Amino acid sequence: MSPLSLARLLGVGIGLALVQAGAEPAKSPPAATVPLPPPAPPARPNDLVAPAPQVTPLPPERPPELAGGSDAKAVAPPKEAPSEAPKQAPKDASDQNAKEAKDAPAAQPETPLPPARPPELSGEAALALKVSAPDDTACLRRLERLGARFEAMAALGNGQCSAPRPLSVTALADGVALEPAATLSCRAAEALARWTTEVQVAARETFDDGLKSLNLGGTYVCRGQNHDTDAKLSEHSFANAIDVMGYGFAKRAGLKVTASPAGSPEAAFLDRVRASACGFFRTVLGPGSDAAHGNHLHLDLRERNAGHRLCQ
Ligand SMILES: [Zn+2]
Repeated sequence: MSPLSLARLLGVGIGLALVQAGAEPAKSPPAATVPLPPPAPPARPNDLVAPAPQVTPLPPERPPELAGGSDAKAVAPPKEAPSEAPKQAPKDASDQNAKEAKDAPAAQPETPLPPARPPELSGEAALALKVSAPDDTACLRRLERLGARFEAMAALGNGQCSAPRPLSVTALADGVALEPAATLSCRAAEALARWTTEVQVAARETFDDGLKSLNLGGTYVCRGQNHDTDAKLSEHSFANAIDVMGYGFAKRAGLKVTASPAGSPEAAFLDRVRASACGFFRTVLGPGSDAAHGNHLHLDLRERNAGHRLCQ
């Protein structure tokens, strides 16, 4: 055999081998119809393996001296914290105890109750707070200096009506008598005393006479405005109002509050003292204001928005 023929033979052999190798897959499909499990994935390289999860560090243990305090704050009003903390601190000797006390529901009953309401903020006394001056001392001193004669009375109260520190006022400057004695808050008594000095001047200038008395209707009366039980409480319900029925003089006859003929000295006097009352009281009502005030001058200290006055 020549080398060429050998080469040809080898080439045929290789070609045949290649054909056989290429034909091999063509024979396998029947075998592939049987489902085979997917080949196992290659092992993951070590450098791609997820690191082992790290343990999250716990917060440091709470010191025992702080265990009770901040907890008490969470459930108690700030006022209570100081009294609560000392109670818990000795009990919670160890940190573990403190944690248990915090977590255990049994600790809940220890939630402090709100402090008892002081008696001066309850009931009728609380209602009185809105009408009473915090301290009458300065007012009483002024009232004395104005020449008033008065005595302190026991607190008055009836439902919403109240006068925490009423005075029984019997006379004002220059011995002007109050007939009958007036039950008034110090503020109302002071306003009356100051206004009466103006009435005295008006009496001297108009009648050349001295004012000797004020004839009063109600002062402290627990009732609605104009005796209407459904109306807002009158200032009479707080000893902050005075009804002046008339004026007594040293020489001349008394003068009742009424609509006097215009142009008379009496009318001039009544108009003048009524107008001056607006400088001392917040409400001034009288003849002509409405039917309820046809025969007296109602004076009171009702507070209104923006210091508004009702002066009619
Ligand atoms: Zn009145």
